[in-house]
Amino acid sequence: MNISHMSSEEKMPVLFVGHGSPMNAIENNEFSRAWIETGKILPRPKAILSISAHWETNGTGVTAMDAPKTIHDFGGFPPALYEMQYPAPGSLDLADMIREVIISADVRLDQKWGLDHGTWSILCKMFPKADIPVVQLSLDQSKEASFHYLLGKELKPLRNQGVLIIGSGNIVHNLPMMSWKDEGYDWAIEFDETIKRLILAGDHEAIINYENLGETSLLSIPTNEHYLPLLYILALQDRHEQVRFFTDKVTLGSISMRSLWVE
Ligand code: ZN
Repeated sequence: MNISHMSSEEKMPVLFVGHGSPMNAIENNEFSRAWIETGKILPRPKAILSISAHWETNGTGVTAMDAPKTIHDFGGFPPALYEMQYPAPGSLDLADMIREVIISADVRLDQKWGLDHGTWSILCKMFPKADIPVVQLSLDQSKEASFHYLLGKELKPLRNQGVLIIGSGNIVHNLPMMSWKDEGYDWAIEFDETIKRLILAGDHEAIINYENLGETSLLSIPTNEHYLPLLYILALQDRHEQVRFFTDKVTLGSISMRSLWVE
Protein backbone atom coordinates (compact mmCIF):
# COMPACT_ATOMS: atom_id res chain seq x y z
CA MET A 1 0.00 0.00 0.00
CA ASN A 2 1.27 3.41 -0.90
CA ILE A 3 -0.38 5.95 1.32
CA SER A 4 1.21 8.93 -0.36
CA HIS A 5 -0.83 8.16 -3.48
CA MET A 6 -4.11 7.86 -1.66
CA SER A 7 -7.05 9.87 -2.84
CA SER A 8 -8.43 12.41 -0.41
CA GLU A 9 -12.08 11.40 -0.64
CA GLU A 10 -13.10 11.55 3.01
CA LYS A 11 -11.79 13.47 6.00
CA MET A 12 -11.31 11.06 8.88
CA PRO A 13 -12.63 11.81 12.37
CA VAL A 14 -10.09 11.89 15.20
CA LEU A 15 -10.46 10.06 18.50
CA PHE A 16 -9.16 10.36 22.01
CA VAL A 17 -9.72 7.12 23.90
CA GLY A 18 -9.46 6.68 27.66
CA HIS A 19 -7.83 3.25 27.76
CA GLY A 20 -7.70 2.56 31.51
CA SER A 21 -6.76 -0.93 32.64
CA PRO A 22 -5.09 -3.31 30.17
CA MET A 23 -7.77 -5.83 31.24
CA ASN A 24 -10.23 -3.98 28.98
CA ALA A 25 -8.51 -5.82 26.12
CA ILE A 26 -9.78 -9.20 27.33
CA GLU A 27 -12.84 -8.29 29.39
CA ASN A 28 -16.36 -7.91 28.12
CA ASN A 29 -17.28 -4.66 29.90
CA GLU A 30 -18.90 -1.31 29.15
CA PHE A 31 -15.63 0.11 27.80
CA SER A 32 -14.63 -2.77 25.56
CA ARG A 33 -18.18 -2.98 24.22
CA ALA A 34 -18.12 0.74 23.42
CA TRP A 35 -14.83 0.27 21.53
CA ILE A 36 -16.36 -2.58 19.51
CA GLU A 37 -19.36 -0.39 18.63
CA THR A 38 -17.08 2.56 17.76
CA GLY A 39 -15.14 0.34 15.36
CA LYS A 40 -18.36 -0.63 13.61
CA ILE A 41 -19.41 2.95 12.87
CA LEU A 42 -16.02 4.46 12.04
CA PRO A 43 -15.19 4.87 8.37
CA ARG A 44 -12.62 2.23 7.48
CA PRO A 45 -9.20 3.94 7.61
CA LYS A 46 -6.36 3.19 5.21
CA ALA A 47 -3.96 3.40 8.14
CA ILE A 48 -4.00 4.28 11.83
CA LEU A 49 -1.70 6.64 13.71
CA SER A 50 -1.74 6.05 17.46
CA ILE A 51 -0.31 8.48 20.00
CA SER A 52 -0.12 6.40 23.15
CA ALA A 53 0.66 7.44 26.73
CA HIS A 54 2.95 4.43 26.96
CA TRP A 55 5.66 5.47 24.55
CA GLU A 56 7.78 8.26 25.99
CA THR A 57 11.14 9.11 24.47
CA ASN A 58 13.72 11.86 24.28
CA GLY A 59 12.98 13.42 20.92
CA THR A 60 10.03 12.35 18.79
CA GLY A 61 9.99 8.94 17.14
CA VAL A 62 7.70 7.13 14.76
CA THR A 63 7.52 3.35 14.38
CA ALA A 64 8.93 2.35 11.01
CA MET A 65 8.74 -1.39 10.61
CA ASP A 66 6.74 -3.80 8.45
CA ALA A 67 5.54 -5.94 11.35
CA PRO A 68 5.42 -4.08 14.70
CA LYS A 69 5.54 -6.46 17.65
CA THR A 70 2.86 -6.56 20.32
CA ILE A 71 4.43 -5.13 23.48
CA HIS A 72 3.13 -6.36 26.85
CA ASP A 73 4.24 -3.31 28.81
CA PHE A 74 2.66 -4.06 32.18
CA GLY A 75 3.11 -6.41 35.13
CA GLY A 76 0.99 -8.62 37.34
CA PHE A 77 -1.84 -9.45 34.98
CA PRO A 78 -3.28 -12.87 34.05
CA PRO A 79 -1.54 -15.01 31.39
CA ALA A 80 -4.37 -14.42 28.90
CA LEU A 81 -3.29 -10.79 28.62
CA TYR A 82 0.32 -11.73 27.86
CA GLU A 83 -0.89 -14.12 25.20
CA MET A 84 -2.67 -11.33 23.34
CA GLN A 85 -1.22 -10.53 19.95
CA TYR A 86 -2.24 -7.72 17.62
CA PRO A 87 -0.45 -8.58 14.39
CA ALA A 88 -1.37 -5.46 12.38
CA PRO A 89 1.20 -4.47 9.77
CA GLY A 90 3.16 -1.24 10.07
CA SER A 91 3.50 1.34 7.32
CA LEU A 92 6.79 2.81 6.23
CA ASP A 93 4.85 5.14 3.91
CA LEU A 94 2.89 6.61 6.80
CA ALA A 95 6.06 6.92 8.89
CA ASP A 96 7.64 8.90 6.02
CA MET A 97 4.55 11.09 5.66
CA ILE A 98 4.65 11.90 9.36
CA ARG A 99 8.29 12.93 9.02
CA GLU A 100 7.27 15.19 6.15
CA VAL A 101 4.31 16.93 7.80
CA ILE A 102 5.97 17.53 11.18
CA ILE A 103 8.23 20.55 10.91
CA SER A 104 8.70 21.55 14.56
CA ALA A 105 10.60 18.34 15.41
CA ASP A 106 13.07 16.13 13.63
CA VAL A 107 11.11 12.88 13.77
CA ARG A 108 13.28 9.79 14.11
CA LEU A 109 12.38 6.54 12.36
CA ASP A 110 12.24 3.85 15.04
CA GLN A 111 12.78 0.14 14.44
CA LYS A 112 12.67 -1.00 18.07
CA TRP A 113 9.27 -0.19 19.52
CA GLY A 114 6.07 -1.73 18.17
CA LEU A 115 2.52 -1.53 19.48
CA ASP A 116 2.16 -0.96 23.24
CA HIS A 117 -1.00 -1.72 25.18
CA GLY A 118 -2.19 1.88 24.90
CA THR A 119 -2.61 1.08 21.23
CA TRP A 120 -3.48 -2.60 20.96
CA SER A 121 -5.84 -2.88 23.95
CA ILE A 122 -8.17 -0.50 22.09
CA LEU A 123 -7.55 -1.60 18.51
CA CYS A 124 -8.12 -5.28 19.24
CA LYS A 125 -11.71 -4.27 19.96
CA MET A 126 -12.19 -1.55 17.32
CA PHE A 127 -10.49 -3.37 14.47
CA PRO A 128 -10.25 -7.01 15.59
CA LYS A 129 -9.02 -8.29 12.24
CA ALA A 130 -5.74 -6.38 12.71
CA ASP A 131 -5.62 -5.85 8.94
CA ILE A 132 -5.13 -2.06 8.92
CA PRO A 133 -1.54 -0.75 9.12
CA VAL A 134 -0.73 0.92 12.45
CA VAL A 135 2.03 3.40 13.26
CA GLN A 136 2.83 4.93 16.65
CA LEU A 137 4.20 8.40 17.35
CA SER A 138 6.14 8.82 20.61
CA LEU A 139 5.77 11.52 23.25
CA ASP A 140 8.90 13.62 23.68
CA GLN A 141 9.12 13.71 27.47
CA SER A 142 11.50 16.69 27.43
CA LYS A 143 8.89 19.03 25.94
CA GLU A 144 6.13 21.19 27.38
CA ALA A 145 2.45 20.63 26.82
CA SER A 146 2.25 23.44 24.22
CA PHE A 147 4.82 21.63 22.05
CA HIS A 148 2.61 18.53 21.92
CA TYR A 149 -0.40 20.64 20.92
CA LEU A 150 1.61 22.23 18.11
CA LEU A 151 2.80 18.84 16.89
CA GLY A 152 -0.81 17.68 16.81
CA LYS A 153 -1.73 20.61 14.53
CA GLU A 154 0.97 19.61 12.09
CA LEU A 155 -0.60 16.17 11.67
CA LYS A 156 -3.79 17.67 10.16
CA PRO A 157 -3.05 16.81 6.50
CA LEU A 158 -3.12 13.10 7.37
CA ARG A 159 -6.85 13.28 8.08
CA ASN A 160 -7.48 13.85 4.37
CA GLN A 161 -5.32 10.88 3.46
CA GLY A 162 -7.49 8.21 5.06
CA VAL A 163 -5.45 8.12 8.26
CA LEU A 164 -7.34 7.65 11.53
CA ILE A 165 -5.48 9.46 14.32
CA ILE A 166 -6.11 8.15 17.82
CA GLY A 167 -4.80 9.58 21.08
CA SER A 168 -4.77 6.96 23.83
CA GLY A 169 -4.46 7.98 27.47
CA ASN A 170 -6.69 9.13 30.33
CA ILE A 171 -7.76 12.66 31.30
CA VAL A 172 -7.54 11.71 34.99
CA HIS A 173 -4.81 9.14 35.74
CA ASN A 174 -3.46 8.75 39.27
CA LEU A 175 -2.32 5.15 39.81
CA PRO A 176 -1.08 5.55 43.42
CA MET A 177 -4.54 6.74 44.46
CA MET A 178 -6.47 4.07 42.57
CA SER A 179 -9.25 2.24 44.39
CA TRP A 180 -11.10 -0.91 43.31
CA LYS A 181 -14.48 0.78 43.19
CA ASP A 182 -16.39 1.47 40.03
CA GLU A 183 -16.74 5.15 40.88
CA GLY A 184 -14.58 8.23 40.98
CA TYR A 185 -13.29 10.44 43.80
CA ASP A 186 -14.99 13.82 43.99
CA TRP A 187 -11.82 15.63 42.83
CA ALA A 188 -11.45 13.26 39.86
CA ILE A 189 -15.04 13.80 38.77
CA GLU A 190 -14.65 17.56 39.22
CA PHE A 191 -11.50 17.73 37.08
CA ASP A 192 -12.98 15.48 34.41
CA GLU A 193 -16.05 17.76 34.28
CA THR A 194 -13.82 20.84 34.09
CA ILE A 195 -12.00 19.44 31.07
CA LYS A 196 -15.30 18.45 29.46
CA ARG A 197 -16.58 22.01 29.88
CA LEU A 198 -13.38 23.50 28.45
CA ILE A 199 -13.49 21.12 25.48
CA LEU A 200 -17.08 22.12 24.71
CA ALA A 201 -16.14 25.80 25.06
CA GLY A 202 -13.20 25.28 22.68
CA ASP A 203 -10.84 26.71 25.31
CA HIS A 204 -7.76 24.73 24.32
CA GLU A 205 -5.47 27.32 25.90
CA ALA A 206 -6.80 26.47 29.37
CA ILE A 207 -6.52 22.75 28.65
CA ILE A 208 -2.88 23.11 27.58
CA ASN A 209 -2.15 25.13 30.73
CA TYR A 210 -3.77 22.54 32.96
CA GLU A 211 -1.45 23.32 35.91
CA ASN A 212 -3.44 26.54 36.37
CA LEU A 213 -6.69 24.65 36.91
CA GLY A 214 -6.21 24.29 40.66
CA GLU A 215 -5.66 21.45 43.08
CA THR A 216 -7.83 18.96 41.19
CA SER A 217 -5.38 19.15 38.27
CA LEU A 218 -2.44 18.25 40.53
CA LEU A 219 -4.27 15.17 41.77
CA SER A 220 -5.56 14.20 38.32
CA ILE A 221 -2.27 14.69 36.44
CA PRO A 222 0.60 13.72 38.76
CA THR A 223 2.54 12.90 35.57
CA ASN A 224 1.22 14.09 32.23
CA GLU A 225 1.91 11.21 29.82
CA HIS A 226 -1.73 10.02 29.91
CA TYR A 227 -3.04 13.58 29.43
CA LEU A 228 -0.80 14.66 26.54
CA PRO A 229 -2.46 12.47 23.87
CA LEU A 230 -5.62 14.53 24.44
CA LEU A 231 -3.75 17.67 23.34
CA TYR A 232 -2.84 16.11 19.98
CA ILE A 233 -6.48 15.26 19.33
CA LEU A 234 -7.84 18.68 20.33
CA ALA A 235 -5.21 20.32 18.13
CA LEU A 236 -6.65 18.38 15.19
CA GLN A 237 -10.15 19.79 15.74
CA ASP A 238 -11.20 22.20 13.01
CA ARG A 239 -13.21 25.26 13.93
CA HIS A 240 -16.59 23.94 12.78
CA GLU A 241 -16.14 20.43 14.16
CA GLN A 242 -18.16 18.97 17.00
CA VAL A 243 -16.99 16.78 19.87
CA ARG A 244 -19.00 13.76 20.96
CA PHE A 245 -18.15 12.03 24.22
CA PHE A 246 -18.36 8.31 24.90
CA THR A 247 -17.43 6.11 27.90
CA ASP A 248 -17.61 9.35 29.90
CA LYS A 249 -17.11 7.88 33.31
CA VAL A 250 -14.60 8.08 36.14
CA THR A 251 -13.83 4.67 37.63
CA LEU A 252 -11.31 3.00 39.97
CA GLY A 253 -11.30 6.22 41.99
CA SER A 254 -8.80 8.11 39.90
CA ILE A 255 -9.14 6.99 36.25
CA SER A 256 -11.30 8.94 33.79
CA MET A 257 -12.39 6.81 30.86
CA ARG A 258 -13.85 9.82 28.99
CA SER A 259 -13.31 9.45 25.26
CA LEU A 260 -13.87 11.90 22.40
CA TRP A 261 -14.97 11.55 18.81
CA VAL A 262 -14.15 14.75 16.90
CA GLU A 263 -15.67 15.36 13.47
ZN1 ZN B 1 -2.18 3.61 30.38
